[in-house]
Amino acid sequence: MTDAINTTTAAVDIDDVTHVYGHGAAAVTAVGPVSLRVPPGEFLVLVGASGCGKSTLLRLIAGFEEPTTGTVRTAGEPPRPGRGAGLVFQQPRLFPWRTVGGNVDLALRYAGVPREERARRIPELLARVGLHDVARRRVWQISGGQQQRVAIARAMAVDNPLLLLDEPFAALDALTRERLQEDLRRVDRTSVFVTHSVDEAVFLGTRVVVLSSRPGRVALDLPIPLPRTGAEPDELRGSPEFAALRAEIGHAVRTAAGNHTQS
Ligand code: ADP
Ligand code: MG
Repeated sequence: MTDAINTTTAAVDIDDVTHVYGHGAAAVTAVGPVSLRVPPGEFLVLVGASGCGKSTLLRLIAGFEEPTTGTVRTAGEPPRPGRGAGLVFQQPRLFPWRTVGGNVDLALRYAGVPREERARRIPELLARVGLHDVARRRVWQISGGQQQRVAIARAMAVDNPLLLLDEPFAALDALTRERLQEDLRRVDRTSVFVTHSVDEAVFLGTRVVVLSSRPGRVALDLPIPLPRTGAEPDELRGSPEFAALRAEIGHAVRTAAGNHTQS
């Protein structure tokens, strides 16, 4: 793995990619053709209707799928599954019989971090997601929102240059979701975040890409010029700028999904 982050290399480079599942009569083109470059530091949100190929695109970036045509590069190299990116899924996928700290410890151990350093970093990581007080609890003893925080802490534990998140808050109640969105917004790491929520996209993204219905292609590619620091989340969500972006992206999502009547 390369240690230095070369700022001239895109964190993610998707070049003319299509992805087809299955063969012959059963073939389903899920994605493409799509070309996207994600520079370091960007928080890219992919938004689109269910089934448009969002998860497939994220799995291509993670290296879990190979593109049928075109190329995917992360930090200039073909992505290697489980390496180089922190992953957060809709379900937290933790070890329920382990403690909260134990789950984060496992990720650090897997990355070869020595014991003393792990002991120092685990409390820091848990504090970043507001979980310092439940480090010794078992995963099955904490709430779904707390479990998702553990998954985020685990993804951030290893010094991966890239975070990939696939609808991580979809299963949570609205209040927990808003709190976690606010936490994640403060995380300074190149990220690709998948959601079908327009509000979530505008709130989290420094850039939002709307995908068309299957096969997913880029229907809208929009920078989000909202302040990243200093602004109160509620003020931000209530601002006219936020409303204008939400309207533009919402319109694109509905058009892309082929539904022009709903408002
Ligand atoms: P999204 O995440 O936007 O809901 P997906 O990327 O999961 O969309 O799926 C895109 C399309 O590809 C869908 O039509 C889905 O049914 C199909 N698909 C996803 N995974 C597979 C698979 N393993 N085999 C066959 N088709 C699949
Ligand atoms: Mg999906």
